[in-house]
Amino acid sequence: MPPMTLPQLVPSRTCLQCDVCCRFPDPNSVLRPYFTEDEITRAMAEGVEGTVFPNHRGSQVLLVPDPLGDGYFCPAFDATTSTCRIYERRPLDCQLYPLALMWNQPHDQVLLGWDTKCPFMRGEIPGEIQRHAERVIALLDQPDLHGHVVAHPRLIGRFQEDVVVLARLPRLTESIAGQWGPTPLHRFTLEDIPRMTAALERSEWCHAQSLAAYAPAYHYMWNGLLAYWWMELQGTFCLFAQSPDGWFMPLPPIGTGPIDAPLSDAMELLYRWNGDSSVSRVENLPSQLAPELARLGYRVTPKEPDYLYRATDLAALAGDRYKSQRALCNRFEREQSCEVDAYQAGDLRDCRALLGGWSRQKQAEGLESFGAMLLADARSAHETIWSQAPDLRVTGKVVRVRGRLCAYTFGYWLTSTTFCVLLEVTDRTLSGLAQYLFRETCRTALAAGAEYINAMDDAGLPGLRRSKQAYHPAMLIPNFVAFPARES
Ligand code: SF4
Repeated sequence: MPPMTLPQLVPSRTCLQCDVCCRFPDPNSVLRPYFTEDEITRAMAEGVEGTVFPNHRGSQVLLVPDPLGDGYFCPAFDATTSTCRIYERRPLDCQLYPLALMWNQPHDQVLLGWDTKCPFMRGEIPGEIQRHAERVIALLDQPDLHGHVVAHPRLIGRFQEDVVVLARLPRLTESIAGQWGPTPLHRFTLEDIPRMTAALERSEWCHAQSLAAYAPAYHYMWNGLLAYWWMELQGTFCLFAQSPDGWFMPLPPIGTGPIDAPLSDAMELLYRWNGDSSVSRVENLPSQLAPELARLGYRVTPKEPDYLYRATDLAALAGDRYKSQRALCNRFEREQSCEVDAYQAGDLRDCRALLGGWSRQKQAEGLESFGAMLLADARSAHETIWSQAPDLRVTGKVVRVRGRLCAYTFGYWLTSTTFCVLLEVTDRTLSGLAQYLFRETCRTALAAGAEYINAMDDAGLPGLRRSKQAYHPAMLIPNFVAFPARES
């Protein structure tokens, strides 16, 4: 059990006047407080509804909408008095604030920092911040609190650029890494791309009509947002992703031979790392594996399929069914004179500026909250692709209109006959540009031997689904996710 109260840096009277803490703009905010099992029990004893904790073994709290329509509250927050109803028994996560525990960017060191989102800290950084941090570090080193954090690694958030680092916490890092088990767990780095590629080539899961997820770049690009790790289990390559909610497998074990033994080992590790949280799962299961996992007792559910097109169809855009896309391409060619070039490292700054403008355009169009979240998350993935495309075996094209970079796209070869379109960003004010760039990409791929174009899934976004359907896919590649049967 942690001590009931950590020393507080921000005076109570300041906190009471502040309108930032305990309120969140988004119902799925990653900053929602995390309650451990003991903390949930205590909060419920204080009258907080048990239904706001999705997992009573430890979970981030579910937020409640502000009745005035101004965002969301922590359910323990009393909006009439602007106070916490369980202040004396609030969770460690809240006691630490404005300090925060987080991973460093490569996700191999636990850090203590202070959050610049706290208005008090923004005003004038208190002189005693370092001494305060040292007091907190000393408490975190005490066995009971240390054990509490190690038992609940989700108390450690992902790296946030707006949290100023005060100290590294090597003892905590070591204890948490020690929980990962006897088989070495490795960060998934650029050096591991050939290893994963070789495992995919040996397996039967990577062929012309496979999911786009059966390629290293698809996962590696999210390394800035999630932490990817790999491990060898029973001769298979097992990829793990560590999200703020816990660990999951973005792919089943990759190898030859039966999957049940390596998968069972991998699941044991997920139980160990996540407890019985429903975050434990295997994603991107091909249809061949779904019945096998169902037979093994997993709960298998479908997720959004990949869209697979014939390259000849998309390169030609012939016939009535492509009339509207063809008209938009023609319009773009008629109205604009453009240059299409291979992406070069020197284009990075212009791509960054385009992505910023494109995000603003999308936001102005009024995105649903999931779409907005995807957009915010996408930035680090685009940065990874811009800076590491050749190492990831990803190729890109840029389009310039009157010298200004106004579109880019990146993709990779899944097999020698299937090209996957990974990213496409275009200036939305230029009518027909998106259709023109997509057709150019397909034409280039066709000339290089593509039979199929895989345009990934639609992330469940209705607008994206409509535009992907409008290109008449040759097939939708089924995709499944499997949850272990003993999920709570
Ligand atoms: S538990 Fe209390 S201090 Fe923590 S977010 Fe909820 S209302 Fe705020």
